[in-house]
Amino acid sequence: MAVQTVYKEPAPLIDRENPLESMMSRFNIAAEILGLDEETYNVLKTPDKQVIVHIPVTMDNGKVRVFEGYRVIHNTILGPSKGGIRYDKNVYLDEVKALAAWMTWKCAVVDIPYGGAKGGIICDPTTMSAGEIERMTRAYTLALKDVFGPDRDIPAPDMGTGPREMAWLMDEFSKTVGMTSSAVVTGKPLVMGGSLGRTEATGRGVMVATLAALEKLGLNPTEVSAAVQGFGNVGSWAAKLLFDKGLKIKGVSDISGAYWNADGIDINEAIAYKNAHGGRLEGFTGAAPMDPNDLLTSAVDVLVPAAVEDVITEHNARQIQAKLIVEGANGPTAASADPIINEKGIMVVPDILANSGGVTVSYFEWVQNKQGFKWTEQMVTERADRIMSDAFEKVYQTSLKYKIPMRIAAYVVSIDKVAQTYKYRGGF
Ligand code: NAD
Repeated sequence: MAVQTVYKEPAPLIDRENPLESMMSRFNIAAEILGLDEETYNVLKTPDKQVIVHIPVTMDNGKVRVFEGYRVIHNTILGPSKGGIRYDKNVYLDEVKALAAWMTWKCAVVDIPYGGAKGGIICDPTTMSAGEIERMTRAYTLALKDVFGPDRDIPAPDMGTGPREMAWLMDEFSKTVGMTSSAVVTGKPLVMGGSLGRTEATGRGVMVATLAALEKLGLNPTEVSAAVQGFGNVGSWAAKLLFDKGLKIKGVSDISGAYWNADGIDINEAIAYKNAHGGRLEGFTGAAPMDPNDLLTSAVDVLVPAAVEDVITEHNARQIQAKLIVEGANGPTAASADPIINEKGIMVVPDILANSGGVTVSYFEWVQNKQGFKWTEQMVTERADRIMSDAFEKVYQTSLKYKIPMRIAAYVVSIDKVAQTYKYRGGF
């Protein structure tokens, strides 16, 4: 059988800031505000563990391709590590390290008992068959069987993965331990221990955070306009729930293009169109096509970037007209744009707070699996909404206390919790 060399494409860093550096520059500011001691700083600036695996997979053409995969455990002082698995051809180690650290901060900001982790495989799932993806997922799980565990490290979906992959992961892991281990992974299909309310959880959290921020800004949701970048899980749910709350969504976009309607887009219509057209908005007639580059700087009150990293940069930040940015995506704002945004007085609900509704309901899924008891959708949403509102208020009050932007305040809240826990647990 022919063996191909490791499938690895160079990471395109052109015009993108290194997400690890972006994360670290905010972490450094918050650490200084807190007066974080040197020992804890040194512990937190590097991941606890990073595993690189090479996974041989028999492709449909009979050849064996070796994929490179990662699992980075940033920190586990607050509990077992939690974080998604990304299948993408641009996955690279520094990105996984940044995403893992963001998970530590995210879980700490919403006060759930998890540490942070992230995983990924360099692959292009759009060109692979279901069988190839299944074999790759099972091989990745086997390679990491000593890392994963319901009380050790609990993966979840991220870009390029979903309930299907989580079901394979759960099944493969369960075989290695000789019993069904539902709580080893979240984001599972509903029939095998997934939680009600998980699909919309991140978009719902974005909605709750947006309403809380509008209240602080003294703006009435029914008199506010918004643009949403990205129309996948997070973007479409955020857009729909904000639309239901009376916001006028003037612009939406996905990878196929951007669409604008000054009178407001009917988001239910846009979602129905997307669902009927292979998950893309391409050709949507409920709004006029616009240059995707103009969406982020369009005349709206609220901007929800819910697609990819580093879309708001020093190059376009000055042109942003929104008064409020709510970060549905992870890392949509490059650190170099922060000073410009702050100078303009734009309120930012940062990613580690704004999109934490997802990990919160993942946590609920894990709790339900451990309890062996299914919660109703109402229990899930009420509890998630309360956690999100409380976390927003805590970050907001911290920003007032230290006279700092919400982004740095979110880091301050998170790092403070982790540092205090280190103080109590000790053990260096
Ligand atoms: P998804 O794959 O469901 O959707 C991504 C969307 O972004 C798609 O509509 C895609 O067409 C669009 N897109 C991609 N590149 C784009 C570009 N350059 N311009 C405009 N649109 C573009 O992914 P998702 O789960 O919605 O995740 C989106 C972001 O939210 C990611 O940063 C992810 O890490 C983050 N996030 C997701 C969750 C979750 O629960 N799904 C939780 C926290 C954070």
